[in-house]
Amino acid sequence: MKPVSKRLTTQSVQIGVGHDDQTGGISFPIYPSATYRHPGVGQSTGYDYTRSGNPTREVLEDALAKLEGGARGLVFSSGMAALTTLLLHFSSGDHLLVSEDLYGGTYRLLEQVFTKFDVRASYVDTTSTTAVEAALLPQTKALMIETPGNPLLGISDISALAEICKSARILFIVDNTFLTPVLQRPLELGADVVVHSATKYLGGHSDLCAGVLVSKDIELGEQLYFLQNSTGAVLPPQDCWLLIRSLKTLPLRMERHSASALQIATWLQNHSAVERVYYPGLPEHFGHALFQQQAEGFGGMLSFRVRSPHLAVQLLDRLRLISFAESLGGVETLITLPAVQTHSDIPAADLKRLGICNSLLRLSVGLEEPEDIIADLNQALA
Ligand SMILES: *Cc1c(COP(=O)(O)O)cnc(C)c1O
Repeated sequence: MKPVSKRLTTQSVQIGVGHDDQTGGISFPIYPSATYRHPGVGQSTGYDYTRSGNPTREVLEDALAKLEGGARGLVFSSGMAALTTLLLHFSSGDHLLVSEDLYGGTYRLLEQVFTKFDVRASYVDTTSTTAVEAALLPQTKALMIETPGNPLLGISDISALAEICKSARILFIVDNTFLTPVLQRPLELGADVVVHSATKYLGGHSDLCAGVLVSKDIELGEQLYFLQNSTGAVLPPQDCWLLIRSLKTLPLRMERHSASALQIATWLQNHSAVERVYYPGLPEHFGHALFQQQAEGFGGMLSFRVRSPHLAVQLLDRLRLISFAESLGGVETLITLPAVQTHSDIPAADLKRLGICNSLLRLSVGLEEPEDIIADLNQALA
């Protein structure tokens, strides 16, 4: 496994440093101003109205574009706001192919909101390139994947799918929430747009709700900026500042999340109450070899299936250090029951087919000492 890029670590730490010419402030300031005084008629300081542009947001958006290796970054009030804005790029009659192992909220947005505007989606196993090719329709305008998938951590081949999208002349979108640009940079592997729920690892402290889009080329970036400004779900400047502050430790956090998750996944695998562990870092994991070609660390997310739904409930009940809560990517370890929580909007038959049952738990491994996390799991599984 390649180590986390040192250059990215420096880039992250230096976000905003040297950008405040007026005071030399090391921390770039928050500009709460909603509007800006024009120097004269037909003149602008570069900022007119904060929905259209804000200096704090600009520092953040530029930093995210750079981290992902894209041309344009845009930040939104949540991951869903970022996805909604991106989906508004499509028109009535368009069709999207989407990973079936995906965030439940994305499924709900597509099925219960965008179907009203006749933007349709179908769900495929994107870990199979042949399944993706077979599912393409004449009206398909985009492929949208999550890799690793959620909650089963399936691995899709980003480069191979990029080739398929290129020949089909459709947009290739990757939700990079689980790995962040520190561990995986889809734009460099041929994706056109990267999506993030920055509420997760980018924010990293369970205290912020934000979303991100980064486009590979500037043209698409301008089209998405038009939609961001026209629909208005921008991230407020205070939250932009908080996200800048969070990004400074992102590479360090991802390195530790990955190391701890591997340790815990290995421990879970050897526990008699655990039937199966889903973690890309385990050699048995489907896609383990592919993962190592396209990513630089295994990340902090793992799922595991215990012997019975009853045992899953007992575990959640007994945990003391680990919090039973939705969301992921924070410094604190969180555990959830996807079938009942994050994925409750996906039809029961689909959950069953995918193997998302009431015995499947998803763990977001935090930055506590891994021994303490293991001790908590151990006493709760006893
Ligand atoms: C949480 C999440 C989202 C939605 O983001 P919010 O910030 O909660 O709106 C989208 N995709 C993935 C993979 C997520 O985990």
